[in-house]
Amino acid sequence: MKMYAFHCGGEKTLRSVFDPFDPDCGATIHPPYFFYLIRHPEGDVLFDCGAHPALIDDPRSRLGAAADLYDIVMAPGDDVVTRLHSLDIEPEAIGHVVQSHLHYDHAGGLEFLADAAVYVQKEELPFAYWPPVYQRDVFVREDFDSVRNWRALRGDHDIFNDGRLLIFATPGHTPGHQSLLVRLDSQAYILTGDAVYDKEKMEHRCLPGLLWSPDAVIESWERIEELQRRYDAKLIVTHDLHWESEIRLAPEQWYE
Ligand SMILES: [Zn+2]
Repeated sequence: MKMYAFHCGGEKTLRSVFDPFDPDCGATIHPPYFFYLIRHPEGDVLFDCGAHPALIDDPRSRLGAAADLYDIVMAPGDDVVTRLHSLDIEPEAIGHVVQSHLHYDHAGGLEFLADAAVYVQKEELPFAYWPPVYQRDVFVREDFDSVRNWRALRGDHDIFNDGRLLIFATPGHTPGHQSLLVRLDSQAYILTGDAVYDKEKMEHRCLPGLLWSPDAVIESWERIEELQRRYDAKLIVTHDLHWESEIRLAPEQWYE
């Protein structure tokens, strides 16, 4: 088994999104966008699929006026199709897509993965289709409307029934958020998605600015830490501000 991390652009935003009580909460930060590919003997599995390529040239065409809230920085090639091609993989060949959640920076590639089974927690779908006012700007219905093969889960799901790829629910950021435990030969990893923005903030129990339920966030952090201890797993955080020194970048580098 091999795991690849694909960097696919990012945005400029305020530190308050990560922690509204940070003394430097008005500072500009540059969170990256990432998605991941796990090549399992029984098939390729994506964890998230980045933002839609229309955001490269014209975020307003996709996000409407909400685009002005985020300073999206994507270059040509920062999309799921181009990134998969760098490993000679056609998007139609992807059989499984695990969506941490359905925000635009994680689900924008779904229309190019139309043949895949798409795994979500069942609570994510009504929330994404009819979001509350405080998350209205971060869901784009066109991102996920083309999915034909939803797998709506209730909690844990072991994708190939061999203990190597375990989806587990981590609600809080959204009600249907989920993370993925990846047990490679030499090391276990947890792909947290947006259940964790920043490992240090999690350790200090500093809640992020964008969330659905603070109580659920804390419970999910406890679940992540429990699995982390049990499998001696390392955390990989999607919007890690320190990614340049931490993440092995596909296609040249991988995890195994
Ligand atoms: Zn999100």
